[in-house]
Amino acid sequence: MSSKILPGPGESTSEQNLRHLPSVDRLLGSSALSSLADALGRPLVKRAVQRALSQARDHAPKDGQTPSEQALISMASGFAREDAASRMRPVINLTGTVIHTNLGRALLAEEAIVSVSQAMRGYSALEFDVASGERGDRDDVIEGLICQLTGAEAATVVNNCAAAVLLSLVALGGRKEVIISRGEQIEIGGAFRMPDIMRAANCRLVEVGTTNRTHLHDYASAITPKSALIVKAHRSNYAVTGFTSEVGDAELAALAKRSGVLYMVDLGSGALVDMSAWGLPREPLPSDSLSKGADVVMFSGDKLLGGPQAGIIVGSRAAITRIKRHPLKRTLRVSKLVLAALEATLRVYDSGHRLHERLPVLAMLTRSRDAIRESCMRVGTALANYAGPEFELSIEDCASQIGSGALPEEKLPSAAVVLRPRLVSRRSGSLLKQTLTRFRSLPTPVVGRINDQAILFDCRCLSIADEALLLGQLRDAQPPGIAGGQQDRPA
Ligand SMILES: *Cc1c(COP(=O)(O)O)cnc(C)c1O
Repeated sequence: MSSKILPGPGESTSEQNLRHLPSVDRLLGSSALSSLADALGRPLVKRAVQRALSQARDHAPKDGQTPSEQALISMASGFAREDAASRMRPVINLTGTVIHTNLGRALLAEEAIVSVSQAMRGYSALEFDVASGERGDRDDVIEGLICQLTGAEAATVVNNCAAAVLLSLVALGGRKEVIISRGEQIEIGGAFRMPDIMRAANCRLVEVGTTNRTHLHDYASAITPKSALIVKAHRSNYAVTGFTSEVGDAELAALAKRSGVLYMVDLGSGALVDMSAWGLPREPLPSDSLSKGADVVMFSGDKLLGGPQAGIIVGSRAAITRIKRHPLKRTLRVSKLVLAALEATLRVYDSGHRLHERLPVLAMLTRSRDAIRESCMRVGTALANYAGPEFELSIEDCASQIGSGALPEEKLPSAAVVLRPRLVSRRSGSLLKQTLTRFRSLPTPVVGRINDQAILFDCRCLSIADEALLLGQLRDAQPPGIAGGQQDRPA
């Protein structure tokens, strides 16, 4: 980095060359870099120039060559663009998974987008009672709506469903015994493990039943004067099938009531409306558990609900009050941006009007195979051309996933652009991987998957806008072999 250029008669030629590297100011004065500095900011471009020069110094002693001024300029602009580019880049999701945790889960309704922009730009009545001019509670913004939609007495919102579980356990079961079935010791992707959360919440975990079967008497005989909670966790990302038995909400709620403990349900995804109305599988609703007597139910904001990341807790006024009063509530509260997005999303539900068009998650989940196939036909050739002549194009039926643990067994009938290597050889596996990598290195990365020795681009989540973007960038990337493109294949 700080390679000083030593004077002296014993200098090698490469050291002499280094003295001829252009100065930072000279490079910054070039027309390419000065216009880049106008666009990206001079400090950032200057740092990129310094990095290019230091790289040239580090490499020159080895290969005895110093790059030309032009090469330094293009190296520096590469670094500058790289530094200025957002890491959370938009991507085109052709995985077929609608609620894809790694790709940001739910896309939000236009109403929510507008509402978030307003909240960012101006002041809002976040914790302010406009009528009285006095301080309010930020939960007031959405509590009424959530209660209206779920039939709950009271509600509160925290950072995500994991936080909702943690906070409820601490507030309702801290330092007490918490009873849960062995078959529901769930782990959700990203290190959410029920036993660990219980430990972190300072609860004494009491496991009952067996992995496949748990009966009411298992719960009943586990209750002691130290018990505080019976917990049920929705098996979101797996299914237990075969010789199984679990106890339903109504029985557990009644047992809890009889025994003087509370009954809590972690629904995870939790839909707000019965999706079988659109021919989709039915996911349990918070109102189901509440109407059967659950004291608290929690679910995510950014799974099936189709809103921002949040954890919504609904339940009896007594239980929600204890949760809201716990000191940890303040550490887990949501921002005004989240509240703005959540309120707008809930208002779409509350209107009951054209939900499957206004909520993108629902729109994508209800997209017909025919519509998806048409989308595949519009982009298939362009995708195949970019993949190259080693691949054969076909449009095939496939199954897409809801994602994020909602209904893990359920697959939605879909269609995909399938690119299959013409020749199957030992090299096919790496050809598939390399080609997917090339798709991800497009300006707006395209994410697909490999299935059965072929590349699959499921077009369920390809919006009309993304379709245009995709076709545009594939057109610009053609023909292969033009400089600037990613060249990892022989021409
Ligand atoms: C997804 C899920 C969670 C975690 O929800 P986040 O909103 O991601 O924190 C907790 N419990 C269940 C059952 C889930 O499916």
